[in-house]
Amino acid sequence: MKRREFLTATSTFAAASAVGYHGFGAEDSETVNFALVGLGKLATNQLAPALQKTKHAKLKGIVTGTPAKEAIWMDKYGIDRRHVYNYENYDKIAQDEEIDVIYIVLPNGMHHEYTIRAAAAGKHVLCEKPMANSAQECREMIQACEKADRKLAIGYRCQFEPHHQHCIELARQETFGDFKMVEAGFGFKIGDPTQWRLRKGLAGGGALMDVGIYALQACRYITGKEPLSITAQETKTDPKKFAEVDETIAWTMEMDGGAVCVCDTTYNFNGVNRFRAYADEGWFGLQPAFGYGGIRGETSEGAIQMEQVDHFAAEMDAFAKHLLFDEPNRVPGEEGLRDLNAIEAIYRSISSGKLQPVAAV
Ligand code: NAD
Repeated sequence: MKRREFLTATSTFAAASAVGYHGFGAEDSETVNFALVGLGKLATNQLAPALQKTKHAKLKGIVTGTPAKEAIWMDKYGIDRRHVYNYENYDKIAQDEEIDVIYIVLPNGMHHEYTIRAAAAGKHVLCEKPMANSAQECREMIQACEKADRKLAIGYRCQFEPHHQHCIELARQETFGDFKMVEAGFGFKIGDPTQWRLRKGLAGGGALMDVGIYALQACRYITGKEPLSITAQETKTDPKKFAEVDETIAWTMEMDGGAVCVCDTTYNFNGVNRFRAYADEGWFGLQPAFGYGGIRGETSEGAIQMEQVDHFAAEMDAFAKHLLFDEPNRVPGEEGLRDLNAIEAIYRSISSGKLQPVAAV
């Protein structure tokens, strides 16, 4: 069976054929071709360079609304004109049999539409975080991918990073005993007041949607539990700059099983970038925890020494291996939906001033 047929087959068929598939030529049969949609900072500075390091993912196509970027990218990455699209002819990618995965790297408010169109074009989707502006949009994206029989993953790169994986392992092994509490936070001082991250329609929210989501994710994958209820409070020191989105939020989650998580996020100052988990017989955590590199870990018994890797290369290779070899998808659409359910409970708690339940998936 040829790789194209394999990657476009139904999931049941594909899984059943996986063994036969391995018998074909190494280079072609073990590579998944990606097209990046939205050539902004993340795509330019992280994803395209990461795609030069990946073993199973290859940069094959681009979708951009800026014509000047086309020749630069074609030249730099050897992309053929046949695989270059803009936002008007994006749906024509359906006829491009050489593109397997569409990686959505657009502002948050565009993830929903471009994921649904990608699935309708018959492509698997890797979508950046936050998955969408609302839980309802997340559900529609999951349904669209299911209907088209395409796979969906969310760009939660930390789940593929060795220090984070080691901490998950410490938690699952109960190395330090029974869990009691996780503290987590991520934030930074945001600059340019005209950027899309400060516009509700394009961003969905402020610091919480953009970077607070890393703290939320860490609490969920470290405890291995879901939040049941949340209380949250927002502080806004610059109501003009943050007229449409949140600035600084602190929130507390009661997790299924009883652990408590205490979190914060901000667009108003630098330096918040950590998590620490406390258990009966010790603690462990990372600081800095969520940047692209330089992750440092410590436990109550000493340093955590792990390899520093390119998070994005690891994330894209993992999705490619999910498609090629039926390896597990650790970050499916439901993972993004669970975060949006919690984020919506945080916003409800801020506006109501009350404890809010978190919707289950
Ligand atoms: P960016 O502003 O640098 O890039 C956005 C791209 O979208 C640009 O190429 C822009 O031209 C294009 N675009 C199309 N329509 C647009 C519109 N109406 N308004 C604004 N831009 C429009 O943003 P970025 O930092 O690359 O972020 C893109 C996505 O990646 C976001 O969802 C963000 O949350 C996510 N992200 C994830 C990480 C991570 O570590 N996983 C890091 C940064 C960003």
